[in-house]
Formats: sequence, structure tokens, C-alpha cells
Amino acid sequence: MIQLCGMSSAALKDYMKQKGQSAFRGDQLAKWVVSGTPIEKMSNLPAALREEMRGEAVTNPVRVREIFESKLDGTRKFLFELPDGNLVEGVLMRYRHGCTLCLSTQVGCRMGCLFCASTLDGCVRDLSPGEMVGQVLLANEILAESGERVGNLVLMGSGEPLDNYDNTVTFLRLVTAPDGLNLSARSISLSTCGLVPMIDRFSGEGLPVTLSLSLHAPDDAIRRRIMPIAKRYSIRETLDALKRYIAVTGRRVIIEYILIGGLNCEPVHARRLAGLIRGMQCHVNLIPLNKVSERDLLPATDRQVDAFLEELDRSHISATKRREMGNDIQGACGQLRRGAIHGMEKQLRGEQS
Ligand code: SAH
Repeated sequence: MIQLCGMSSAALKDYMKQKGQSAFRGDQLAKWVVSGTPIEKMSNLPAALREEMRGEAVTNPVRVREIFESKLDGTRKFLFELPDGNLVEGVLMRYRHGCTLCLSTQVGCRMGCLFCASTLDGCVRDLSPGEMVGQVLLANEILAESGERVGNLVLMGSGEPLDNYDNTVTFLRLVTAPDGLNLSARSISLSTCGLVPMIDRFSGEGLPVTLSLSLHAPDDAIRRRIMPIAKRYSIRETLDALKRYIAVTGRRVIIEYILIGGLNCEPVHARRLAGLIRGMQCHVNLIPLNKVSERDLLPATDRQVDAFLEELDRSHISATKRREMGNDIQGACGQLRRGAIHGMEKQLRGEQS
């Protein structure tokens, strides 16, 4: 099936041309696609054309299998279903400055980080550009009910975006296109565990999104214990790639740091972290560990988190603690999909009602 929402307006025009239609039809089609309208409802296209298209194409290949809404903060967690039955997650968060969608780039992940639920069964497959845009369109559809739309995107659902490089870049071009969803690159964050050559390649794409690095450790020895990627690239090499990204794009980067009890959350670690990134144009996002039942890692205590933050502050490193959202609906990466696959859906629904 052709995934229309994964095509640029130029490609949609070509598609209409192949069907013997005018460029004008291409414009009409592009407008419908951006609004997520199914082919049968594209009322200004001739019925026969719509019929022909329906045999070979869909506007959006993704559908919402289930929505869980947090009673604590209104965060909504989606279980999205792909055409082949695979499931991925998305999280829609409402902040004062607008709505942010966290979306997935792969079914599962092959990076193997010890704390992450998405990677437990490895990577099943990459998502297509249309499957990524489709998640945004579905969130927009739901937000339209309250007169809102997605204003910010974070690529922090399941998957390593730079391990699905071409599709991710195509996706970013589609959502930032003025005649596409027209989101500003500045309102998009791409989070990576640090594929160094891909960071360099990404610097040259002319897509000045906010780059987030999942660092999670103050030295290579600790990082190797929790992130297999650390065996490939040292922290030094990784931070050098970030510095090149900053130099090329002029964008500040985000350093993500999960605080894990007994591993990386003491003041000495904070001082070591400060030493690594001193002078770099960056902001540190401290993330409380979301407990994953399959792993026996412990979240740091509130006191440890506060002390860590104070230590960074003393070293003049800009840092904040990430607000936890949707804690009652399995906020952590990959947990909802696993829950669904392993028959926990009913249990979750029980807790909801
Ligand atoms: N693969 C990319 C993006 C997806 S993960 C990356 O590694 O950055 C998005 C963020 O969630 C990453 O910072 C990741 O380290 C973090 N994360 C994964 N599991 C988590 C958990 N159990 N608790 C808190 N954060 C987690």
C-alpha cells in the first residue's frame, strides 16, 4: 500500500500526474493528506479517482489501537498499530507552551541499553516515514477536538532514530516542510544513544533540530556497564561529535542523564560530568529512572537527585530535573507495548476505570 502521508507534496503531485490528473489535483490531495483525511472523504476529488486510489493507497497507515489517559496530568499514551500488526507507543503531553508528542522510530530497538524496556526483544523493524508522520496525524486528530494541535515533537519513543537514518531524515523533512505539517525544526528533539558517524552525517542535513544525547554516565567504565554503544564510541569521541553539531547548526544540545541508584548518582559523578561538558553549549536533563520490571535497576532517591542537581549548579552547569508525566500509565519507554504483547492491557484498563 502506498502511504500518502509519507510523501512530499511534490511526490503527491507526481502521483496525481501518473493518474492523468492535473497539478491542481496534486495540491488538493496534499491538503487532505496533511489534515489526515482518509481517501474516501476527499470530497473535491472525483469519485472514480478516489475509488482507484483506495485500491492501492492509504492516507495514514497507522491506527490507534488504544489510548490510556493519566488521571494525574492528562498525559495520553497511545498504542499505535502498524499495517502488519506491529505495535509502537506514543505519548502526548500537554505543557503550558503547547502539546508535545513523543513518537517511535522503530518497532523495538537494537541498542541494548540495560535500563530500557524497548530493547528487551531487539529490533523488529524500522518504521517508514509514513508510519512516523502517521503518529503525528493521529495525535492531531485527537487534539482537534479541543482546538489544539501538536506543536513539539520528541523522537524518544521506541527505537534509535539514527539507526533508521534515511527514514528519520525524510520524516523530519516532511514535518518541517512549509506545505507539510510546517513544524519548526527548533520545536523537534531527536534523542540518540550516540551513533557518532550518524551524528556527523546529521549535522550536514540542514535540519537544525535539538539534538539530545543519552549520556547517562560520567565516564566510559560506567557507561559501558549500561549502554553497549559505549563499547563502540568513547564519551570523548561522542562529545566531540556533539561539539561539531553545535558548531555547524548553532544549536544548544541536551545531555540526558538517568540517575540510577548505586551506579551514577553520587556528587562525585556530578563533578565528573561537569568536568566533561564544561564550556559546552548544552543543558543537562536529569531523568528519574522509570522502573522496568524485567530489570533490577533502582531509581536514585529524591535526596540523591537534589544533591546531584546542586552539585551541577555549583559547577555552573545548566541543568533541570525532567518532570515526570503519566506515571500511572506506564510512562517508561517500551513498557506499554510489552504490556500489550504480554496481555497486560486488561490489567491496565482495570486500573484506569
Ligand atoms: N534511542 C534514543 C531515543 C529513545 S529513548 C536514545 O537512546 O536516546 C528516549 C530516552 O528515554 C533516552 O534518553 C533513554 O535513555 C530514556 N530511557 C529509556 N529507558 C528509560 C527508563 N527506564 N527510565 C528513564 N528513561 C529511560
